Amino acid sequence: MGHNNKETDKKNLKLTDLSSVGEFGFIEHIKKNVKKYNESTMVGIGDDSAVIKNSNMYSLISTDMLVEGVHFDLSYFPLKHLGYKSVVSNISDICAMNGICKQITVSVAVSNRFKLETLDDLYDGINLACKRYKVDLVGGDTTSSQKGLIISVTAVGIVDNKKICQRSGAKNNDLIIVSGKLGLAYLGLQVLEREKQVFLVNPNSKPDLEPYKELVERQLKPEPRTDLIDFLEKNSIIPTSMIDISDGLSSEIIHICNSSGKGCILYSDKIFKDQTLLKVCEEFNLDPISVIMSGGEDYEIMFTINPNDYKKIENSDLDLYVIGHITNDKNTYLDLGNGSKAEIKSLGWKSF
Ligand code: ADP
Ligand code: MG
Repeated sequence: MGHNNKETDKKNLKLTDLSSVGEFGFIEHIKKNVKKYNESTMVGIGDDSAVIKNSNMYSLISTDMLVEGVHFDLSYFPLKHLGYKSVVSNISDICAMNGICKQITVSVAVSNRFKLETLDDLYDGINLACKRYKVDLVGGDTTSSQKGLIISVTAVGIVDNKKICQRSGAKNNDLIIVSGKLGLAYLGLQVLEREKQVFLVNPNSKPDLEPYKELVERQLKPEPRTDLIDFLEKNSIIPTSMIDISDGLSSEIIHICNSSGKGCILYSDKIFKDQTLLKVCEEFNLDPISVIMSGGEDYEIMFTINPNDYKKIENSDLDLYVIGHITNDKNTYLDLGNGSKAEIKSLGWKSF
């Protein structure tokens, strides 16, 4: 715990007040470490506006704001991870339209409690995500805050106008598919919160996070499913609707059904339950399906396809799971497998 400044501490140097470099010095400092990965980025950091060359594709724009104490807790969330995750969540939003993220802008508001080196940790994470996903950091804004840290990331992407996937396109009988393991990021957060409480009572405690490594990693360092977007492109699959799973399966499927004017039936035994998830749910006395339905921040993708396209995905190497189908009847149901159904509500679901 208290390892948020690990990278900074390692350097073990005297830290630089932001006031000594000033806003422009800080911007120059960021700019030095920024590389360009995309032809479409004509003008990046340093002018009044970034310039992006568009072909005949649609542009996608998505933005997210993260506020210290509301969206993250620096006592267990290292800044480098925070930088990485703030980029990932935006790339994921572009993926959820079947698009490719090309550029981002990053705006920060910082209190004077933060030093230049601490912000370097944040930007190390941002640059790492940019490198990994070939995204260019093309601008932003820097300002001071009375208290705490605020990060706002805006992502710009492109999508072929014939391949764009909105939430609203799901049709009767379409298959509902999710990528990856769900619920792990939520459990990772529970583990981190528990260790923080232990640490507050006994500051000498050394948490053993090893058994929870995968969960904590999913919380601190999620990855966007750009591999799924590539797969869909290569296999000529155009989903009828798509959304990223940032808030838990319940609210995401309700978004799709409401936007599409449809309902659904999901099958609880088709929803993949990871071994670690089952074990840790038992330890925390949580119901695995509830965690999957209501937990958030997995950054996996849910999409619907016409049943005729099933043959294109059934032998894929990707971790895709068909978990149900869309119905004309507007109810959203979860089949519990024991002959009973539950109505899916935005937060979990209500049994009857
Ligand atoms: P302006 O006064 O025109 O808003 P700024 O001085 O705020 O310009 O910014 C100058 C340049 O630096 C712009 O290209 C801007 O996008 C970029 N920039 C400012 N802050 C950041 C930041 N935190 N991260 C990345 N780029 C930034
Ligand atoms: Mg500005």
